[in-house]
Amino acid sequence: ARLVIETDMVIIGAGPVGLFTVFEAGLLGLRCHLVDNLDKVGGQCAELYPEKPIYDIPAIPSCTGQELVDNLMRQAEPFGPQFHLGQQAEKLVRLEDGRFELTTSEGQVFRAPVVVVAAGAGSFVPRKLPLPGADAFEGTSLFYAVRRMETFRGRDLIVAGGGDSALDWALNLHPLAKSLTLVHRRDEFRAAPDSVQKMRELVASGAMKLVIGQITGLEGEGPMLSAVAIKDAAGEVVSLPANALLAFYGLKMELGPLASWGLGLERNLIKVETEAFETSEPGIFAIGDIITYPGKLKLILSGFHEAALMCQKAFKYCHPDEKLVFRYTTSSTDLHKKLGVA
Ligand code: FAD
Repeated sequence: ARLVIETDMVIIGAGPVGLFTVFEAGLLGLRCHLVDNLDKVGGQCAELYPEKPIYDIPAIPSCTGQELVDNLMRQAEPFGPQFHLGQQAEKLVRLEDGRFELTTSEGQVFRAPVVVVAAGAGSFVPRKLPLPGADAFEGTSLFYAVRRMETFRGRDLIVAGGGDSALDWALNLHPLAKSLTLVHRRDEFRAAPDSVQKMRELVASGAMKLVIGQITGLEGEGPMLSAVAIKDAAGEVVSLPANALLAFYGLKMELGPLASWGLGLERNLIKVETEAFETSEPGIFAIGDIITYPGKLKLILSGFHEAALMCQKAFKYCHPDEKLVFRYTTSSTDLHKKLGVA
Protein backbone atom coordinates (compact mmCIF):
# COMPACT_ATOMS: atom_id res chain seq x y z
CA ALA A 1 0.00 0.00 0.00
CA ARG A 2 1.17 3.52 -0.71
CA LEU A 3 1.85 6.03 1.99
CA VAL A 4 -0.98 8.41 2.80
CA ILE A 5 0.15 11.94 1.96
CA GLU A 6 -0.92 14.70 4.35
CA THR A 7 -0.75 18.22 3.00
CA ASP A 8 -2.47 21.61 3.08
CA MET A 9 -3.96 21.58 -0.39
CA VAL A 10 -4.64 18.89 -2.97
CA ILE A 11 -5.11 20.38 -6.43
CA ILE A 12 -6.95 18.35 -9.04
CA GLY A 13 -5.55 19.42 -12.41
CA ALA A 14 -2.05 20.66 -13.26
CA GLY A 15 -3.20 23.03 -16.01
CA PRO A 16 -2.11 26.69 -15.97
CA VAL A 17 -4.59 27.52 -13.24
CA GLY A 18 -3.57 24.64 -10.97
CA LEU A 19 0.09 25.58 -11.48
CA PHE A 20 -0.43 29.25 -10.57
CA THR A 21 -2.35 28.15 -7.44
CA VAL A 22 0.90 26.60 -6.18
CA PHE A 23 2.50 30.04 -6.30
CA GLU A 24 -0.35 31.91 -4.60
CA ALA A 25 -0.70 29.19 -1.94
CA GLY A 26 3.07 29.17 -1.45
CA LEU A 27 3.14 32.89 -0.65
CA LEU A 28 0.74 32.12 2.20
CA GLY A 29 2.90 29.22 3.39
CA LEU A 30 0.57 26.47 2.14
CA ARG A 31 1.99 23.27 0.63
CA CYS A 32 0.41 21.66 -2.43
CA HIS A 33 0.19 18.27 -4.12
CA LEU A 34 -1.23 18.12 -7.65
CA VAL A 35 -2.94 15.23 -9.46
CA ASP A 36 -3.36 15.06 -13.24
CA ASN A 37 -4.51 12.41 -15.65
CA LEU A 38 -2.04 13.53 -18.27
CA ASP A 39 1.54 12.34 -18.05
CA LYS A 40 2.71 15.97 -18.18
CA VAL A 41 1.85 19.30 -16.57
CA GLY A 42 0.21 22.23 -18.38
CA GLY A 43 -3.33 21.05 -19.18
CA GLN A 44 -4.79 22.41 -22.42
CA CYS A 45 -1.76 24.70 -23.05
CA ALA A 46 0.65 21.76 -23.11
CA GLU A 47 -1.65 19.20 -24.71
CA LEU A 48 -3.64 21.18 -27.27
CA TYR A 49 -1.48 24.15 -28.31
CA PRO A 50 2.12 23.91 -27.01
CA GLU A 51 3.54 25.76 -30.04
CA LYS A 52 0.78 28.33 -30.62
CA PRO A 53 1.31 31.85 -29.31
CA ILE A 54 -0.98 33.29 -26.61
CA TYR A 55 -1.35 37.08 -26.72
CA ASP A 56 -3.50 37.90 -23.70
CA ILE A 57 -1.45 37.00 -20.65
CA PRO A 58 -1.00 40.30 -18.76
CA ALA A 59 2.43 41.86 -19.40
CA ILE A 60 3.53 39.00 -21.68
CA PRO A 61 2.81 40.28 -25.21
CA SER A 62 3.32 36.82 -26.71
CA CYS A 63 4.38 33.37 -25.54
CA THR A 64 3.56 29.84 -26.65
CA GLY A 65 1.42 27.46 -24.63
CA GLN A 66 4.50 25.49 -23.57
CA GLU A 67 6.48 28.63 -22.69
CA LEU A 68 3.67 29.74 -20.40
CA VAL A 69 3.69 26.34 -18.69
CA ASP A 70 7.49 26.37 -18.33
CA ASN A 71 7.36 29.83 -16.76
CA LEU A 72 4.56 28.84 -14.37
CA MET A 73 6.69 25.87 -13.30
CA ARG A 74 9.67 28.17 -12.65
CA GLN A 75 7.50 30.57 -10.68
CA ALA A 76 6.13 27.71 -8.54
CA GLU A 77 9.54 26.11 -7.98
CA PRO A 78 10.41 27.83 -4.66
CA PHE A 79 7.35 26.16 -3.14
CA GLY A 80 8.28 22.60 -4.13
CA PRO A 81 4.99 21.39 -5.59
CA GLN A 82 4.65 17.59 -5.75
CA PHE A 83 3.12 16.13 -8.91
CA HIS A 84 1.20 12.87 -9.22
CA LEU A 85 0.75 12.45 -12.97
CA GLY A 86 -0.90 9.80 -15.10
CA GLN A 87 -3.66 9.26 -12.56
CA GLN A 88 -7.21 10.41 -12.15
CA ALA A 89 -8.68 11.86 -8.97
CA GLU A 90 -11.43 9.33 -8.37
CA LYS A 91 -12.89 9.34 -4.90
CA LEU A 92 -13.39 12.22 -2.51
CA VAL A 93 -14.81 11.80 1.00
CA ARG A 94 -14.90 13.98 4.10
CA LEU A 95 -13.20 12.52 7.17
CA GLU A 96 -14.55 12.82 10.72
CA ASP A 97 -11.90 15.43 11.58
CA GLY A 98 -13.31 17.67 8.82
CA ARG A 99 -10.46 17.12 6.35
CA PHE A 100 -10.89 15.46 2.96
CA GLU A 101 -9.51 12.18 1.72
CA LEU A 102 -8.84 11.97 -2.00
CA THR A 103 -7.94 8.68 -3.73
CA THR A 104 -6.55 8.41 -7.26
CA SER A 105 -6.92 5.69 -9.87
CA GLU A 106 -3.41 4.53 -8.92
CA GLY A 107 -4.43 4.15 -5.28
CA GLN A 108 -2.58 7.21 -4.00
CA VAL A 109 -4.36 8.66 -0.95
CA PHE A 110 -4.17 12.30 0.17
CA ARG A 111 -5.56 13.93 3.31
CA ALA A 112 -5.96 17.69 3.38
CA PRO A 113 -8.20 20.39 4.82
CA VAL A 114 -8.56 21.96 1.37
CA VAL A 115 -9.29 20.48 -2.06
CA VAL A 116 -9.01 22.66 -5.16
CA VAL A 117 -10.73 21.48 -8.32
CA ALA A 118 -8.81 23.06 -11.24
CA ALA A 119 -10.00 20.41 -13.66
CA GLY A 120 -10.51 22.55 -16.78
CA ALA A 121 -12.78 20.88 -19.29
CA GLY A 122 -12.37 17.63 -17.36
CA SER A 123 -9.85 14.81 -17.54
CA PHE A 124 -7.90 14.25 -20.70
CA VAL A 125 -8.65 10.59 -21.47
CA PRO A 126 -7.65 8.50 -24.47
CA ARG A 127 -10.10 7.95 -27.32
CA LYS A 128 -10.78 4.23 -27.39
CA LEU A 129 -11.08 1.81 -30.30
CA PRO A 130 -14.68 2.07 -31.47
CA LEU A 131 -15.06 -1.71 -31.84
CA PRO A 132 -17.59 -3.90 -30.07
CA GLY A 133 -15.93 -6.22 -27.55
CA ALA A 134 -12.69 -4.18 -27.40
CA ASP A 135 -13.20 -3.69 -23.63
CA ALA A 136 -12.57 -7.40 -23.01
CA PHE A 137 -8.95 -7.03 -24.15
CA GLU A 138 -8.19 -3.77 -22.33
CA GLY A 139 -5.38 -3.85 -19.78
CA THR A 140 -4.14 -7.31 -20.87
CA SER A 141 -3.48 -7.04 -24.58
CA LEU A 142 -5.05 -3.74 -25.58
CA PHE A 143 -3.58 -0.53 -24.16
CA TYR A 144 -4.09 3.21 -24.65
CA ALA A 145 -0.99 4.33 -22.76
CA VAL A 146 2.36 2.95 -21.69
CA ARG A 147 2.62 2.65 -17.92
CA ARG A 148 5.55 0.18 -17.95
CA MET A 149 7.63 -0.51 -21.05
CA GLU A 150 8.36 -4.03 -19.75
CA THR A 151 4.73 -4.96 -20.42
CA PHE A 152 5.66 -5.11 -24.12
CA ARG A 153 8.88 -7.11 -23.90
CA GLY A 154 8.93 -10.15 -26.20
CA ARG A 155 5.47 -9.47 -27.61
CA ASP A 156 4.17 -9.18 -31.16
CA LEU A 157 3.10 -5.58 -30.85
CA ILE A 158 0.95 -3.39 -33.07
CA VAL A 159 1.12 0.35 -32.47
CA ALA A 160 -1.81 2.22 -34.03
CA GLY A 161 -1.92 5.94 -34.82
CA GLY A 162 -0.05 8.61 -36.75
CA GLY A 163 0.80 11.30 -34.19
CA ASP A 164 3.73 11.91 -31.88
CA SER A 165 2.61 9.41 -29.23
CA ALA A 166 2.32 6.58 -31.75
CA LEU A 167 5.66 7.37 -33.39
CA ASP A 168 7.55 7.97 -30.13
CA TRP A 169 6.36 4.70 -28.62
CA ALA A 170 6.96 2.72 -31.80
CA LEU A 171 10.56 3.98 -31.77
CA ASN A 172 11.01 3.32 -28.05
CA LEU A 173 9.40 -0.10 -27.94
CA HIS A 174 10.71 -1.76 -31.09
CA PRO A 175 13.98 -2.94 -29.45
CA LEU A 176 11.94 -4.56 -26.65
CA ALA A 177 9.14 -6.13 -28.63
CA LYS A 178 9.51 -9.42 -30.51
CA SER A 179 8.01 -7.70 -33.56
CA LEU A 180 6.50 -4.26 -34.03
CA THR A 181 4.06 -3.11 -36.69
CA LEU A 182 2.91 0.47 -36.98
CA VAL A 183 -0.63 0.75 -38.36
CA HIS A 184 -1.99 4.08 -39.61
CA ARG A 185 -4.92 4.83 -41.87
CA ARG A 186 -2.87 6.85 -44.34
CA ASP A 187 0.77 7.16 -45.30
CA GLU A 188 1.09 10.63 -43.75
CA PHE A 189 2.08 11.36 -40.18
CA ARG A 190 1.33 14.27 -37.84
CA ALA A 191 4.49 13.72 -35.83
CA ALA A 192 7.88 15.43 -35.52
CA PRO A 193 9.67 15.06 -38.90
CA ASP A 194 12.69 13.60 -37.14
CA SER A 195 10.59 10.75 -35.64
CA VAL A 196 8.94 10.08 -39.00
CA GLN A 197 12.34 9.83 -40.67
CA LYS A 198 13.65 7.43 -37.99
CA MET A 199 10.54 5.29 -38.38
CA ARG A 200 11.00 5.17 -42.20
CA GLU A 201 14.61 4.07 -41.76
CA LEU A 202 13.62 1.27 -39.38
CA VAL A 203 10.91 0.13 -41.79
CA ALA A 204 13.40 0.17 -44.68
CA SER A 205 15.90 -1.91 -42.68
CA GLY A 206 13.19 -4.40 -41.71
CA ALA A 207 13.41 -3.63 -37.97
CA MET A 208 9.79 -2.46 -37.97
CA LYS A 209 6.78 -2.95 -40.24
CA LEU A 210 4.40 -0.29 -41.50
CA VAL A 211 0.86 -1.17 -42.58
CA ILE A 212 -1.49 1.44 -44.04
CA GLY A 213 -5.08 0.64 -43.17
CA GLN A 214 -7.80 0.82 -40.57
CA ILE A 215 -8.32 -1.59 -37.67
CA THR A 216 -11.74 -3.18 -38.13
CA GLY A 217 -11.69 -6.07 -35.68
CA LEU A 218 -9.91 -7.82 -32.83
CA GLU A 219 -9.46 -11.58 -32.81
CA GLY A 220 -8.72 -13.77 -29.80
CA GLU A 221 -10.12 -15.38 -26.68
CA GLY A 222 -11.25 -13.18 -23.79
CA PRO A 223 -8.44 -10.84 -22.75
CA MET A 224 -5.76 -12.41 -25.00
CA LEU A 225 -5.48 -10.99 -28.46
CA SER A 226 -4.25 -13.27 -31.25
CA ALA A 227 -4.67 -11.07 -34.34
CA VAL A 228 -5.97 -7.73 -35.54
CA ALA A 229 -8.10 -7.34 -38.67
CA ILE A 230 -7.00 -4.45 -40.87
CA LYS A 231 -8.81 -3.05 -43.89
CA ASP A 232 -6.40 -1.60 -46.44
CA ALA A 233 -6.97 1.28 -48.86
CA ALA A 234 -8.34 -1.12 -51.49
CA GLY A 235 -10.97 -2.33 -49.01
CA GLU A 236 -9.33 -5.71 -48.51
CA VAL A 237 -9.23 -7.10 -44.96
CA VAL A 238 -6.06 -8.78 -43.76
CA SER A 239 -5.47 -10.50 -40.44
CA LEU A 240 -2.24 -9.46 -38.72
CA PRO A 241 -1.08 -11.77 -35.87
CA ALA A 242 -0.39 -9.84 -32.64
CA ASN A 243 -0.66 -10.36 -28.90
CA ALA A 244 -0.47 -6.70 -27.89
CA LEU A 245 -2.07 -3.60 -29.36
CA LEU A 246 -1.21 -0.06 -28.31
CA ALA A 247 -3.67 2.46 -29.78
CA PHE A 248 -3.07 6.22 -29.89
CA TYR A 249 -6.19 7.83 -31.32
CA GLY A 250 -5.82 11.11 -29.48
CA LEU A 251 -7.36 12.41 -26.29
CA LYS A 252 -10.78 13.72 -25.43
CA MET A 253 -11.95 15.57 -22.37
CA GLU A 254 -14.64 14.27 -20.05
CA LEU A 255 -15.86 15.38 -16.64
CA GLY A 256 -15.19 11.93 -15.16
CA PRO A 257 -15.56 11.06 -11.48
CA LEU A 258 -15.99 14.71 -10.42
CA ALA A 259 -19.57 14.50 -11.59
CA SER A 260 -20.48 12.20 -8.70
CA TRP A 261 -18.95 14.20 -5.85
CA GLY A 262 -22.15 16.06 -5.01
CA LEU A 263 -20.75 19.49 -5.98
CA GLY A 264 -23.42 21.79 -7.39
CA LEU A 265 -23.17 21.42 -11.16
CA GLU A 266 -24.73 23.46 -13.95
CA ARG A 267 -24.30 22.14 -17.50
CA ASN A 268 -21.26 20.10 -16.39
CA LEU A 269 -19.61 23.10 -14.74
CA ILE A 270 -19.17 23.65 -11.00
CA LYS A 271 -21.13 26.53 -9.53
CA VAL A 272 -19.12 28.78 -7.21
CA GLU A 273 -19.54 32.09 -5.39
CA THR A 274 -17.15 34.83 -6.49
CA GLU A 275 -15.72 35.96 -3.15
CA ALA A 276 -13.56 32.87 -2.61
CA PHE A 277 -14.61 30.48 -5.41
CA GLU A 278 -15.82 27.93 -2.90
CA THR A 279 -18.23 25.20 -4.05
CA SER A 280 -21.40 24.09 -2.30
CA GLU A 281 -19.11 22.00 -0.05
CA PRO A 282 -17.10 24.13 2.46
CA GLY A 283 -13.36 23.49 2.00
CA ILE A 284 -13.71 22.41 -1.63
CA PHE A 285 -12.82 25.23 -4.01
CA ALA A 286 -13.05 25.27 -7.80
CA ILE A 287 -11.26 27.59 -10.24
CA GLY A 288 -10.44 27.93 -13.94
CA ASP A 289 -12.36 26.53 -16.91
CA ILE A 290 -14.33 24.03 -14.79
CA ILE A 291 -16.43 26.70 -13.04
CA THR A 292 -19.38 28.90 -13.78
CA TYR A 293 -20.62 32.14 -12.22
CA PRO A 294 -22.30 35.21 -13.67
CA GLY A 295 -19.80 36.84 -16.02
CA LYS A 296 -17.28 33.96 -16.07
CA LEU A 297 -14.76 34.07 -18.94
CA LYS A 298 -12.84 30.92 -19.83
CA LEU A 299 -9.51 32.68 -19.95
CA ILE A 300 -6.24 31.91 -18.25
CA LEU A 301 -6.07 35.37 -16.68
CA SER A 302 -9.47 34.83 -15.02
CA GLY A 303 -8.22 31.54 -13.59
CA PHE A 304 -5.17 33.30 -12.12
CA HIS A 305 -7.38 35.86 -10.37
CA GLU A 306 -9.65 33.11 -9.05
CA ALA A 307 -6.60 31.26 -7.66
CA ALA A 308 -5.37 34.31 -5.74
CA LEU A 309 -8.74 34.99 -4.10
CA MET A 310 -9.38 31.33 -3.34
CA CYS A 311 -6.11 30.97 -1.43
CA GLN A 312 -7.08 33.71 1.02
CA LYS A 313 -10.01 31.64 2.29
CA ALA A 314 -8.21 28.31 1.94
CA PHE A 315 -5.62 29.66 4.40
CA LYS A 316 -8.34 29.88 7.08
CA TYR A 317 -9.12 26.16 6.77
CA CYS A 318 -5.43 25.32 7.09
CA HIS A 319 -4.67 27.74 9.95
CA PRO A 320 -7.97 28.56 11.70
CA ASP A 321 -6.24 30.44 14.55
CA GLU A 322 -3.91 32.57 12.49
CA LYS A 323 -4.56 35.96 11.00
CA LEU A 324 -3.55 36.47 7.41
CA VAL A 325 -1.62 39.69 6.80
CA PHE A 326 -1.75 41.18 3.31
CA ARG A 327 1.74 41.65 1.86
CA TYR A 328 3.36 42.73 -1.42
CA THR A 329 6.01 40.54 -3.03
CA THR A 330 8.10 43.64 -3.78
CA SER A 331 8.52 44.76 -0.20
CA SER A 332 7.83 41.90 2.25
CA THR A 333 10.94 40.28 3.72
CA ASP A 334 8.72 37.39 4.85
CA LEU A 335 7.66 36.76 1.24
CA HIS A 336 11.25 37.19 0.04
CA LYS A 337 12.28 34.39 2.42
CA LYS A 338 9.53 32.14 1.10
CA LEU A 339 10.57 32.93 -2.47
CA GLY A 340 14.22 32.26 -1.64
CA VAL A 341 15.30 35.74 -2.78
CA ALA A 342 16.06 37.18 0.69
P1 FAD B 1 -6.96 22.86 -18.15
O1 FAD B 1 -5.90 23.56 -18.90
O2 FAD B 1 -8.07 22.23 -18.92
O3 FAD B 1 -6.28 21.76 -17.23
C1 FAD B 1 -7.07 20.92 -16.43
C2 FAD B 1 -6.31 19.64 -16.13
O4 FAD B 1 -7.06 18.91 -15.17
C3 FAD B 1 -6.14 18.73 -17.32
O5 FAD B 1 -4.77 18.48 -17.54
C4 FAD B 1 -6.92 17.46 -16.95
O6 FAD B 1 -6.28 16.27 -17.39
C5 FAD B 1 -6.92 17.53 -15.43
N1 FAD B 1 -8.03 16.82 -14.79
C6 FAD B 1 -9.37 17.06 -14.90
N2 FAD B 1 -10.08 16.22 -14.14
C7 FAD B 1 -9.17 15.43 -13.52
C8 FAD B 1 -9.28 14.34 -12.61
N3 FAD B 1 -10.47 13.91 -12.14
N4 FAD B 1 -8.15 13.73 -12.20
C9 FAD B 1 -6.93 14.15 -12.66
N5 FAD B 1 -6.76 15.18 -13.51
C10 FAD B 1 -7.87 15.80 -13.94
N6 FAD B 1 -6.96 31.05 -23.02
C11 FAD B 1 -6.44 32.29 -22.96
O7 FAD B 1 -6.53 32.95 -21.91
N7 FAD B 1 -5.81 32.85 -24.05
C12 FAD B 1 -5.67 32.18 -25.24
O8 FAD B 1 -5.11 32.71 -26.18
C13 FAD B 1 -6.19 30.85 -25.32
N8 FAD B 1 -6.07 30.10 -26.46
C14 FAD B 1 -6.57 28.83 -26.50
C15 FAD B 1 -6.41 28.07 -27.67
C16 FAD B 1 -6.91 26.79 -27.74
C17 FAD B 1 -6.71 26.00 -29.01
C18 FAD B 1 -7.59 26.23 -26.62
C19 FAD B 1 -8.14 24.84 -26.67
C20 FAD B 1 -7.76 26.98 -25.46
C21 FAD B 1 -7.25 28.29 -25.39
N9 FAD B 1 -7.40 29.06 -24.23
C22 FAD B 1 -6.86 30.32 -24.17
C23 FAD B 1 -8.13 28.54 -23.05
C24 FAD B 1 -7.16 28.09 -21.98
O9 FAD B 1 -6.30 27.08 -22.48
C25 FAD B 1 -7.94 27.58 -20.79
O10 FAD B 1 -8.71 28.64 -20.26
C26 FAD B 1 -7.00 27.06 -19.68
O11 FAD B 1 -6.22 25.97 -20.15
C27 FAD B 1 -7.80 26.62 -18.46
O12 FAD B 1 -6.89 26.20 -17.51
P2 FAD B 1 -7.30 25.19 -16.37
O13 FAD B 1 -6.05 25.00 -15.55
O14 FAD B 1 -8.55 25.67 -15.71
O15 FAD B 1 -7.71 23.83 -17.11
